[in-house]
Amino acid sequence: MLIDSHVNLHAHQFDEDRDAVIARAREAGVGLMVEISDKLSTFEATHALAMAHADIWCTVGAHPHEARDHTAMTADDLVALAGRPRVVGIGECGLDFHYDLSPREEQARVFRTHIEAAQRTGLPLVVHTREADADMAAILREGQAKAPFRFLMHCYTSGAELAEQAAEMGAWFSVSGIATFKAAEAVREVIRAMPADRIIVETDCPYLAPVPHRGRRNEPAYVGHVLQALADIRGWSREEAEARTTDAFFTLFDGIPRP
Ligand SMILES: [Zn+2]
Repeated sequence: MLIDSHVNLHAHQFDEDRDAVIARAREAGVGLMVEISDKLSTFEATHALAMAHADIWCTVGAHPHEARDHTAMTADDLVALAGRPRVVGIGECGLDFHYDLSPREEQARVFRTHIEAAQRTGLPLVVHTREADADMAAILREGQAKAPFRFLMHCYTSGAELAEQAAEMGAWFSVSGIATFKAAEAVREVIRAMPADRIIVETDCPYLAPVPHRGRRNEPAYVGHVLQALADIRGWSREEAEARTTDAFFTLFDGIPRP
């Protein structure tokens, strides 16, 4: 079974053909998808997808780009929404200092709110990080010092040092279509060093379509290309990569019953 651990199926890019996209994913062998919340104003759409489809689960949270609209959000708000059926993670959340679409201190504050929700619910935290390695490491460490929480460094493209520190804190990592990009040798180098039993795969669709679909809209049906890239990078057979990532996925997202 293929698993796409990070889909944005509520995105407007799927408004014309969402059901066909989901059908193509199933035809391609994708047995599970995690639909990711990027802001509370679209959480109802995200949650409705998980309620409507037995093979789609969801998270609740706000992307760092959206932090400026979530400064009043509390951990109580997230914990309450996380109590709904089929919500299996907190996020995505984190720091993005590449685009800086929200002020950095607001990104950090909203990220800490998500960490508190993960600590209180025991649900895994889906972390987005870009060009914020030192601040990310510091906030993760500060959070772990208060109370343990499990977390996933999604679509990981940041530095080797942050990856090492996160791995020490028990992080899971997810690999995306970027691993198939010709120029992404630095990303592949970091993937080679990730803990073998804590790697999963994702499309992050509609963004970041893997080769040979690069440049087009991405969809969950393409996650097999990501899995193959991971297998090639790690020197695993395709079967081994599938078995390892499936085990890692269900260990992390332990609110999802294993079929
Ligand atoms: Zn992200």
